[in-house]
Amino acid sequence: MNSFAMHGHARLPRVCIIGAGIVGTATAFFLARSGCDVTIVERGTVGGQASGVNFGGVRCHGRDPSELPLAMRSRTIWNRLAELIGHDCDFEAPGHLKIARSSAEMDTLTRWFDIGRAHDLDVELLDRTQLMRRFPWLASDIVGASLCKGDGFANPRLVAPTFARAARALGASVLEGSAVTAIDRLQGGGFRVSGANFNALEADVVVNAAGAWAASLGLPFGAAAPTVTRAPQMFVTEPTARFIGPVLGLVSGDIYLRQSVRGNVIFGGGQGHIDPGGIRSHPDETTFARTPALMRNLIPALTHTALLRSWTGLEANTPDGLPVIGTSAGHDGFIHAYGFSGHGFATGPGVGETLSELILRGQTRIDLTSFHPDRFNTIARPAAL
Ligand SMILES: Cc1cc2nc3c(=O)[nH]c(=O)nc-3n(C[C@H](O)[C@H](O)[C@H](O)COP(=O)(O)OP(=O)(O)OC[C@H]3O[C@@H](n4cnc5c(N)ncnc54)[C@H](O)[C@@H]3O)c2cc1C
Repeated sequence: MNSFAMHGHARLPRVCIIGAGIVGTATAFFLARSGCDVTIVERGTVGGQASGVNFGGVRCHGRDPSELPLAMRSRTIWNRLAELIGHDCDFEAPGHLKIARSSAEMDTLTRWFDIGRAHDLDVELLDRTQLMRRFPWLASDIVGASLCKGDGFANPRLVAPTFARAARALGASVLEGSAVTAIDRLQGGGFRVSGANFNALEADVVVNAAGAWAASLGLPFGAAAPTVTRAPQMFVTEPTARFIGPVLGLVSGDIYLRQSVRGNVIFGGGQGHIDPGGIRSHPDETTFARTPALMRNLIPALTHTALLRSWTGLEANTPDGLPVIGTSAGHDGFIHAYGFSGHGFATGPGVGETLSELILRGQTRIDLTSFHPDRFNTIARPAAL
């Protein structure tokens, strides 16, 4: 499956992970649990970027079939979070309801239903009448929906910090306020990682989990995926009595919505703006008007519920919407994990466990072929004669 192996090493590898989002911290946790010497180097704070500000959706529903094994592996971890890292991070699994507003969208749900069932997921198609009976607070102009049981949400503010705390308790080091600016391959093997506010460190393996900045950071090590950074926009209302069970999402992707354990309705849709410098982003005014209107249209009972805040976060998207996970040809020891294209919170714990397997055993239980870093490489052809 995957060729990278540390089998030749008499000791466990020293691993440097760049980025303390959910991917970096989950990887550190699983590696530290196996006794590895792990250091995470983080430019800002743990979970301070996409992993801490996202919608919090945890779903297998509607995923590309090649990403499903990863999402399902993650689901097992989400369900065991309290036991594994000492806190459930508000994870709840009330199911995910994907809503069709046209018969073409209903066809999309019907096609995916077969994929879900083939992967043993508990999926159910609902026509308009069934939908209105079970969720009478939804707008009545909906054609139908698909419900995937076992999906849900967690609190993004808690997850990366809790993985990091658990990793630290197992001996991992987490350096915050430390930007990596140079990675050099050492003669004789391994890497030297250096930058601002930390002593350069040497590692046998480097994991590039730098989120929206991973493609440029990893370029010398084969990060050739042409990613586009976007800034999805989020909203939160004042708390209200809990009545929304499942996480909701329109097939069109125009809006996604859930009610938190404290009753606030959290929803997203549309894009904000990326600030100059590319480290921060901010909400867009047009989105600020459009997405709440969609929310009130979808759930009329929320018409008078006050909005508290809108925010954005930065995420790298790949052309095929699948992440980049693995090692590029000729760059053994340098592992990429980025380009999660809006799915990396849900899959993050499974990515962490899978990367620890890759580093410690040289192979993974899950097939990573579809995520290969070199899949976008084009062969330079001479001009036609
Ligand atoms: C608004 C929004 C909503 C989303 N909603 C969902 C959702 O509902 N469900 C879902 O599954 N996914 C969602 N996503 C996607 C998900 O949040 C990301 O895929 C996931 O958090 C990526 O995790 P990460 O650890 O790879 O990256 P990040 O969380 O971005 O972490 C990368 C870290 O690397 C650090 N870093 C970067 N460069 C350097 C450097 N040179 N030196 C040191 N550190 C560096 C950064 O500071 C950052 O902390 C959403 C994303 C956004 C932005």
